[in-house]
Amino acid sequence: MKTILVTGCAGFIGSNFVPYFLKKYPEYHIVNLDLLTYAGNLENLKEIEEDDHYTFVKGDICDRELVESLFEKYDIKGVIHFAAESHVDNSIKNPGVFIETNVNGTFTLLDVAYKYWMKEPFIYKKEYEACRFHHISTDEVYGTLGEEGLFTEETPYAPNSPYSASKAGSDMIVRSYRHTYGMNTVITNCSNNYGPKQHDEKLIPTIIRKAIEGESIPIYGDGKNIRDWLYVLDHCKGIDLVYHIGKSGEVYNIGGRNERNNNYIANKICDILDELIPKDKSYKEQIGYVEDRAGHDKRYAIDATKIENELGWKADENFESGIVKTIKWYLDKYKVLNK
Ligand code: NAD
Repeated sequence: MKTILVTGCAGFIGSNFVPYFLKKYPEYHIVNLDLLTYAGNLENLKEIEEDDHYTFVKGDICDRELVESLFEKYDIKGVIHFAAESHVDNSIKNPGVFIETNVNGTFTLLDVAYKYWMKEPFIYKKEYEACRFHHISTDEVYGTLGEEGLFTEETPYAPNSPYSASKAGSDMIVRSYRHTYGMNTVITNCSNNYGPKQHDEKLIPTIIRKAIEGESIPIYGDGKNIRDWLYVLDHCKGIDLVYHIGKSGEVYNIGGRNERNNNYIANKICDILDELIPKDKSYKEQIGYVEDRAGHDKRYAIDATKIENELGWKADENFESGIVKTIKWYLDKYKVLNK
């Protein structure tokens, strides 16, 4: 059995990824290193907690001794690195922890992997030749777009928030380990994800929760900011492909060609709630506008041609199909459908 270290799996994307991956690949053992910050929740992994192909370790990716001990103990043969501070609003209030986790944490993991797998620059130890470090990143590193254009893998980095800057910094460290030491790295830069298990603080869970609680649904600014929304399982499938058949040293953008603005999203969710759990008036009447996020990027949109053409990836869900599944999952979580 091959053991890989997957970080941050008690969070949103990792906890969707691990059950998918273990089901598809019985030959892997996953060690999940997660600090269980406010964003991590082991409830998200209940379905696999008894699986002998899965081991949970509570700890910090910045703790070098711990990371080294895990490489030794489990003879780690690959890394898929999700762990991060991930919420832009928190990075505006408290940027320090973003730099610590996203930059220093990524550096620690990479450097330990390099020393465990490689003898010297460009020379892998015999038994570790196929070992790969997959860094999970975001389209936010590219900055913001005007009305036209898409982010490609060649778009220059121009991060605008402390979150995106810390992710850009981590991408650059990964890039340097490729160029300086010849490490087998891949980076995926993905657009906004949505789906089951996302933390309550993020936009789509907030809209659903506020709607069913009868509260005002807060939309930043004029609601016209655009994101390219991807159903989380489609992201997981893209990661699987890149981890297994992506070209070493390459970067792949992942995005579902589903640009939607926040007004559309709030209205769409309200339409679906009006159908699923109607009340005397539409949920849309609860939509309200709040002061915009500082430095709010206007538009993100991904050109996914490279991963589509080279690796055969494509999104299975569009926003309209994925959002129905997502809403049903949250109604179940909040026990609304069972009331
Ligand atoms: P999340 O905030 O839901 O989960 C992050 C997880 O990392 C949590 O379980 C948390 O406990 C853990 N963690 C935080 N600091 C840690 C530390 N120091 N050591 C160990 N574990 C730590 O995040 P997510 O939305 O699942 O995002 C996962 C990755 O995907 C991140 O790297 C993020 O930048 C990237 N990404 C997210 C999106 C998105 O829309 N959510 C889009 C593109 C890329």
